[in-house]
Amino acid sequence: MSEPLPLPAIHASHAGTWLRDSNGSTRGCSKGEAVMAAADTPLLLLNAPLVANRLGYPDLSGLDLLELFAFVRPARFCVPTPKGLAEALDLAVPDSDDEVPLLLQLAAARMMEICESTDWAERDGAWSTLQSLARLRWPWAQVLAPHVKRPERAEKWLFSRLPEWEEAPERAQPQQVALDELAVEGHLERLTGEGAEKREGQRLFARGAGSVFAPRAEDKRPHVLLAQAGTGIGKTLGYLAPASLWAERSGGTVWVSTYTKNLQRQLRRESTRAWPERRADGSRPVVVRKGRENYLCLLNLEDALQGGFSGRPAILAQLVARWAAYSQDGDMIGGDLPGWLGTLFRKRGIAALTDQRGECVYAGCPHYRKCFIERSARASAQADLVIANHALVMVNAARGRDHAQRPTRIVFDEGHHVFDAADSTFSAALTGQETIELRRWIVGPERGNRGRRRGLAARLADIASYDEAGGEAIEAAVAAAQDLPSDGWLVRLADGTPMGPLEALLAQVRATTYARDESGQEAGYGIETETASLPGELVEAAGTAAQALAAIRTPLMKLAGRLEAVMADAPDWLDGQGRARIEGARHSLAWRIDLLAAWEALLSRLGGPADPDFVDWLAVDRNDAREFDIGLHRHWVDPMKPFAHTVLEPAHGVMLTSATLTDRGEEGPDWPHAVARSGATHIEIAPRTSQSDSPFDYANRAEVLIVTDIRRGDIAGLAGAYARLIEASDGGVLGLFTAIRRMRAVHGRIADRLARAGLPLYAQHVDPIDTGTLTDIFRDDPRASLLGTDALRDGVDVPGRSLRCADEPGGAKGHDDRIIRARLAQAFGRLIRTREDAGHFVVLSSAFPSRFLSAFPDGTPVIRLTLAEALQRVAHGVHAVTGSETESA
Ligand code: SF4
Repeated sequence: MSEPLPLPAIHASHAGTWLRDSNGSTRGCSKGEAVMAAADTPLLLLNAPLVANRLGYPDLSGLDLLELFAFVRPARFCVPTPKGLAEALDLAVPDSDDEVPLLLQLAAARMMEICESTDWAERDGAWSTLQSLARLRWPWAQVLAPHVKRPERAEKWLFSRLPEWEEAPERAQPQQVALDELAVEGHLERLTGEGAEKREGQRLFARGAGSVFAPRAEDKRPHVLLAQAGTGIGKTLGYLAPASLWAERSGGTVWVSTYTKNLQRQLRRESTRAWPERRADGSRPVVVRKGRENYLCLLNLEDALQGGFSGRPAILAQLVARWAAYSQDGDMIGGDLPGWLGTLFRKRGIAALTDQRGECVYAGCPHYRKCFIERSARASAQADLVIANHALVMVNAARGRDHAQRPTRIVFDEGHHVFDAADSTFSAALTGQETIELRRWIVGPERGNRGRRRGLAARLADIASYDEAGGEAIEAAVAAAQDLPSDGWLVRLADGTPMGPLEALLAQVRATTYARDESGQEAGYGIETETASLPGELVEAAGTAAQALAAIRTPLMKLAGRLEAVMADAPDWLDGQGRARIEGARHSLAWRIDLLAAWEALLSRLGGPADPDFVDWLAVDRNDAREFDIGLHRHWVDPMKPFAHTVLEPAHGVMLTSATLTDRGEEGPDWPHAVARSGATHIEIAPRTSQSDSPFDYANRAEVLIVTDIRRGDIAGLAGAYARLIEASDGGVLGLFTAIRRMRAVHGRIADRLARAGLPLYAQHVDPIDTGTLTDIFRDDPRASLLGTDALRDGVDVPGRSLRCADEPGGAKGHDDRIIRARLAQAFGRLIRTREDAGHFVVLSSAFPSRFLSAFPDGTPVIRLTLAEALQRVAHGVHAVTGSETESA
């Protein structure tokens, strides 16, 4: 093994700070000393923002091992902790904090060694990137330079290395086949494998799932199945069995839609039982498909590499380019780009490299044939199984570019999230951020913005010069878009100097929202108010703003008409690529026209009677008292209505499945409510329902402990209880809070004490780490505990939500109860994942009403007791504990 790299190293945890000098001695030191040492010379450290946070010195920089890892091992997984780094590099995991600085030196040396080895898998491109990084003064560049050999032949530039996608012939329509139950069961047996334990619940579930694939009897009347399946049924293979059988026999594509990345990963794994990695022709039968905003846009990356980014973001762009060359699919959010890379650079660099604004120029882009987004769209058209998420399935159905690619057989797993996904997909928001996006899309970069992003005029320059009417429409749209908000709008609103009719409207929205706020502004989070009885000035401003929006929409509609005409009678110079680009432009135009029309509709209702289908409200979005968006929001009272028409109606078979599809009130599962929430009733379909109970022995392996002696509002008591529970269970606690403020207070009081006992405690909104990575850390280290919230808001009354449940039995209270029970059931579901798991679900709130107890599976013992008694039970024979603090009850 190589010698440690002789550079000083630092490690800071909640338990203390350790410094190791280049001569090889490690000592504990004060935070002040550590900061001085870091100012003197660049230190080796792991996760600079986290160390900075622990030292209370935000400007800390140094030689971050994670940046080095991103360079040496692009597109490989690494949990960003000492343990994770050690494992990723095959080094011994340090036993205690004081061993970490040595690990950092060893890890650095190990990575230098990899760079020198002949079989470095990611050598290609490294030397050239390192030259660029040296010019950008990347701290590692000098250290690395002697270890990365100059290649004999010039390296290919990233964009020439990436493979081109192939245009495949359109897939024929699937054949109509019905699956008989025996065939489904036989297939399930093959997938679970010989000798696997036969699970009766899974067999029944699979048979039911098979019925969704039967030929449709009537147009616009899909088969709809709601299948509730308790944890441990094996529902993934339960539906993959009929899905793969149907795909094989019909030649069609099944979409499975999930809500979380975790389930996507699990599906990818399980699908290997049914499908090979590649078909004989090299294509992939299983494809993960995400929304386009998840993928790297090569054109944006090229901009960033060629001067669009400067300073630290430019370094990030180089590391992203390294990754892009080795990435499996170019997915930047939840794919093989480490989730921590973006946070190391503290800016929104990652988002700027994706195609967030729909500025794609399609075939007009020089990288079109290598584009990750285009590749994934083509791959999914040829796939047997597409793994997607709820939002994408809905967006695709609502405004997908290609009708032939719309999903017709869909399994919504984690079906309890479909309602919320529909709620956000089909809502409209007329806010400063949204309008400024539209302005950029039409006008393009303004004043000093570098880069190759282009407005409408540049994207369609050839059309403008060829077709006079088209050219005029573009000019008119660009002129009218000047009325939209522009950079600096938030400052102008705060100063009372709005510019243009839209900013004037937003200023009124802001003033009214603050005037009516009763939540206590010191909380610093978002505030909202309903649109009833609005002041005359606001209604008037809305009228003027609606006219300004109509003045943009009209020329855009005209332009869409001209593009259609040009396509219908195409000039000779318009080649295939040009046509594809115009098709792309037409598609994005249609989407913008719909958006403008939705905004106008929202404004036209202000001051008049409310539309019974919608709830509207005004909002100022804030984070730690800093405003970041202001505007009007419109949500469907029942978002399943548009869902039913855009997703269900065109489909042939749809299944919604989850362990918590129904609310479990005191009278048992509430199926009528679940059916209503599926949207099926909007297209007059009575869905089939099925119920499979969990095979787990909750009565003997889980307990719900309700601690009765922590007073409401007693933060010190709550924090003490958390610390003792974590100690009693030796880590592995997931703590859920209903308010960020309380979570921070608890974390602040106990993190140091726990760290000294070797029990790391992480927290959302405290540690500068993205939620996905926090979950990775929590899973990777059995002694780690994690605190989090299930909402980012604190103390906010959401009028939209309270208003919309007025029709429900029990009114707003009934609605809130359902939500709380659903969250409890989902949180409880994380406790027992296998037959061998055991654990406690602790509720640190004495005021926990019994009407919530039905959220837990039948037979789970529920005990009300003191903290001391709870600690005894937890200390005796559990493997995992979930502490949950619910005060909203
Ligand atoms: S085709 Fe569009 S998304 Fe793809 S690289 Fe080009 S501009 Fe970006």
